[in-house]
Amino acid sequence: MIRRFALMIDPVSTDDTRDDYRDTFTQVDAAAPALSVGELSTQRGDGVFESIGVVDGHAQEVVPHLERLAHSARLCDLPAPHLPQWRQAIETAAAQCGDGEAVIKLILSRGVEHGPTPTAWVTAAPASDFGAVRAAGVKVVTLDRGYDLGAAERAPWLLLGAKTLSYAVNMAALREAHRRGADDAVFLSSDGFVLEAPTASLILRFGDRFVTPAPNGGILHGTTQLSVYEHLQSRGFEVGYDRIPASDLPRADAAWLVSSVRLAVAITAVDDQPLPVDPALTAEWNQYLLSPRD
Ligand code: PLP
Repeated sequence: MIRRFALMIDPVSTDDTRDDYRDTFTQVDAAAPALSVGELSTQRGDGVFESIGVVDGHAQEVVPHLERLAHSARLCDLPAPHLPQWRQAIETAAAQCGDGEAVIKLILSRGVEHGPTPTAWVTAAPASDFGAVRAAGVKVVTLDRGYDLGAAERAPWLLLGAKTLSYAVNMAALREAHRRGADDAVFLSSDGFVLEAPTASLILRFGDRFVTPAPNGGILHGTTQLSVYEHLQSRGFEVGYDRIPASDLPRADAAWLVSSVRLAVAITAVDDQPLPVDPALTAEWNQYLLSPRD
């Protein structure tokens, strides 16, 4: 049984070389209020986060998540997270997760208005049961993301490659997908290329080649996509990153959305057009993604 768990972190400078950071953690009641009303994470979504899958008490892909947290913090001009301190906080949270699937969230916020430090915390909670959707797949609609592929480079203040706490747009896209009778969405750039889903990366199959949109700043580089690619390469498949025109999506031999907690789900239809599915390969990916990975 997985308990809800929350740990406030007193962030230390990246110069700190001690071995044990446990005295910088304060466990708090996960069901009780813990943040100041002046928190900029809640007032403005001004902060970054990560969601890490946990399987039977093992936090998956910790290093890629920590590296992405540091990357997001850099893009947002937040103080660099001290990665060994965060790693120890993840270990502390993972120790609270028993058997089954759980999710650990890392949050690094700008802090309190006029406050001296960022606010940082880690939570652990049971994951939803994604067994049914992993087996059945999802219907998606394509939605205009409203910027072209050059936007990330032209306008870095849009923070397009950062995993920021400002997910209101992503959640609105999911509601729009549901309104249109679909389960999920795939964002398109305004110049007609596929990007990612609101909470997942996209992988397409063409013959024995697998391809995902190049993470050139406009989208997140998914840790799950990287894991799936490692697995595919070990099986001799060709994998790559590309600019993928929107017209290629309905022509794919198969397509998946992949993310750290829901893992791999097949896309069964794009804008009401059925897409071929490969249940055996999806099951194989999920079995791999549920095995302990560092
Ligand atoms: N893209 C977006 C916008 C996401 O929010 C996520 C995950 O939350 C992903 C991609 C997939 O990333 P990961 O596989 O690291 O979970």
